[in-house]
Amino acid sequence: MGQSVEQAGENTGTVPARADCSLPENVEECRMTRCWRTIAACLAAVLSAAVLPGAVLAAEPAAVVHAGPPDNPVNSGAPTCARAGFRILLDVGHTARSPGATSARGGDEFDFNLRLARQIDQALLEAGFARTVLMVTEGRAIPSLYARVAHANELSANLLLSIHHDSVPDRFLEKWDYNGKPKRFSDRFKGHSIFISDDNPDPKDSLLFGSMLGQQLKLRGLQYTPHYTESFMGRWRRALLDADAGVYRYDTLFVLKKAQMPAALLEAGSIANRDEELVMASPERQKLISAAVVDAVDSFCAAQSDRPRLPAMQIAQHSKVRHALSAHSHRRTRERAGDAAPSVSVSQSNFDIH
Ligand SMILES: [Zn+2]
Repeated sequence: MGQSVEQAGENTGTVPARADCSLPENVEECRMTRCWRTIAACLAAVLSAAVLPGAVLAAEPAAVVHAGPPDNPVNSGAPTCARAGFRILLDVGHTARSPGATSARGGDEFDFNLRLARQIDQALLEAGFARTVLMVTEGRAIPSLYARVAHANELSANLLLSIHHDSVPDRFLEKWDYNGKPKRFSDRFKGHSIFISDDNPDPKDSLLFGSMLGQQLKLRGLQYTPHYTESFMGRWRRALLDADAGVYRYDTLFVLKKAQMPAALLEAGSIANRDEELVMASPERQKLISAAVVDAVDSFCAAQSDRPRLPAMQIAQHSKVRHALSAHSHRRTRERAGDAAPSVSVSQSNFDIH
């Protein structure tokens, strides 16, 4: 477009602007003059409207107007995120075979997790995070924990976010009938919560991301649930590390402590709560959370790029990997994941298994 402006200017300069337009022989020249001036004015108006902050207008062929990507504002002075090189793993909590909590209307947590994670994955890709990996794991509960950790560590990512939906300890559940069938619910709690583990190799950055995510959710009007600090939560009681953003410490969460990268777990909302279950199923809420995740990931990525870093780990060449892991890899992944067992046992309720 820069060249186009110059061409228009040169052409207007060659037109006999001082021709006497009252003379019949100059009518055609005068018409052309007005025509060229109109074109030049329009081009100038279009350019001034099109050049947004961050755009670079270069003296290059017309098509080369470098609108800076939204994640890379020019001359802003703030650290920016190289989105294309940043890898986040979206871990879909639980498996189809061992689907986690049951919602107030009888739905599986795994289905909620998968729907939301897919929405977040799409939002990240559209925002330029092309190396995002959606991790869907198969198999039984405990083996799947080893499998997902091994998978995550093989992918050499910058960040892991595990997507879950919350429930309540069994003793809080009440009975009701839904569509003529007995179900269990608890309307006592609602809201999201974020967990990080101090046993993660990078607890500082895990907390940093957790806080950024909590702040982005808060900015969108979403409130975290404070009930994990209450004594009635018993062995599920947690320390609140960031009371403003709603980040709790949960050291023994297997995925968080075994992932060799900063990691956080998002309980996006309580599906045991009859109202919140409906909200969590809505595309509007899923998009709201997705937008919060994108902005939090961008902030975290920018913060990382602003400090000295270890040599980049080997990153798989493919830009997008979608694996469905099966339980047959359990033996191999157990060896890779180390000898520590998950902190939960199969005798406990699904509320425990992460
Ligand atoms: Zn879960």
